[in-house]
Amino acid sequence: MKIAFIGLGNMGGAMAHNLLKAQQAVKGFDLNSKALQQFAAAGGEVYDSIAALVADVDVVMSMLPAAQHVRRVYQEDDGILAHAKAGTLCIDCSTIDPKTIQDLAQQAQAKCINLCDAPVSGGTIGAQAATLTFMVGADLATFNAAHNVLQFMGKNIVHCGAIGTGQIAKICNNLILGISMTAVAEGMALGAKLGIDPQALAGVINSSSGHCWSSEVCNPWPGISSNAPAARDYQDGFATQLMLKDLGLAVEAAAQAQQPIVLGALVQQLYQQRCMQGHGRLDFSSIIQQYCSNSDLTGIDQ
Ligand code: NAD
Repeated sequence: MKIAFIGLGNMGGAMAHNLLKAQQAVKGFDLNSKALQQFAAAGGEVYDSIAALVADVDVVMSMLPAAQHVRRVYQEDDGILAHAKAGTLCIDCSTIDPKTIQDLAQQAQAKCINLCDAPVSGGTIGAQAATLTFMVGADLATFNAAHNVLQFMGKNIVHCGAIGTGQIAKICNNLILGISMTAVAEGMALGAKLGIDPQALAGVINSSSGHCWSSEVCNPWPGISSNAPAARDYQDGFATQLMLKDLGLAVEAAAQAQQPIVLGALVQQLYQQRCMQGHGRLDFSSIIQQYCSNSDLTGIDQ
């Protein structure tokens, strides 16, 4: 398979590397020269224009920051839609709004190009280990074709339904995650303030009806979940600014659908505040710092 990969950042760089490890012929493009150098060092073939990159490939993968970047690489004069050949399979793995990918898929179809959405969960660790979950929106034939490529980068490849449904699944999952993390932070902070040992409280929650991924695997109180970002000053996790981005997509999609998302809109404001205070790069479980001081969390007077 000849594969073009656009967007070789934290996620895309690792994913493209896994395609190379699986002996696929991968060509890459990114605006960032450091990302290109790393891709070349891993054995990838570097291109300096999308037009040349996509002209003669079977598959085009993209992993970009936001919808405006995806629109650009597809719609510009030197972009994918103008230069990919008929029959090319395009897989966009960026997290963006469902409407953008549905519109682009329609434009692609007019050129006999198949486009599907395949946003991911699993973060940079999953990208490196090729254990990502892909949430794919496509007709069945396109899903089966995409599966052949995605299997080299992920463990769990889910067919969510028609084009755009991968993004819907991703947005709804992260909406719940943003709310549940805030709920766990609030409960842990209240319990500690009222005088229960946080370890004892977490033990009760995790064997009771309050348990969830945020309480068990990624508890925001330091020292509860082994390997959680809370144990390393909230470094190297799922950045608060990325959670804010995903909550923004949920709020926007809900407004378009005239569907209330009361708690989602509320926690979006909390994560917005965190970013405004300069904490956007910390793991999103650091939301607990809105509820207690660092000395409460570490037990050390600062
Ligand atoms: P990143 O910023 O590290 O990488 C994006 C790359 O795209 C950069 O190298 C940038 O130079 C490149 N780029 C931007 N515009 C371009 C263009 N016009 N042409 C070519 N390259 C261009 O971001 P990331 O962390 O890799 O995230 C990518 C996507 O994955 C986002 O949509 C994000 O929401 C999603 N995601 C990220 C994580 C995570 O943990 N980082 C987890 C799940 C999903």
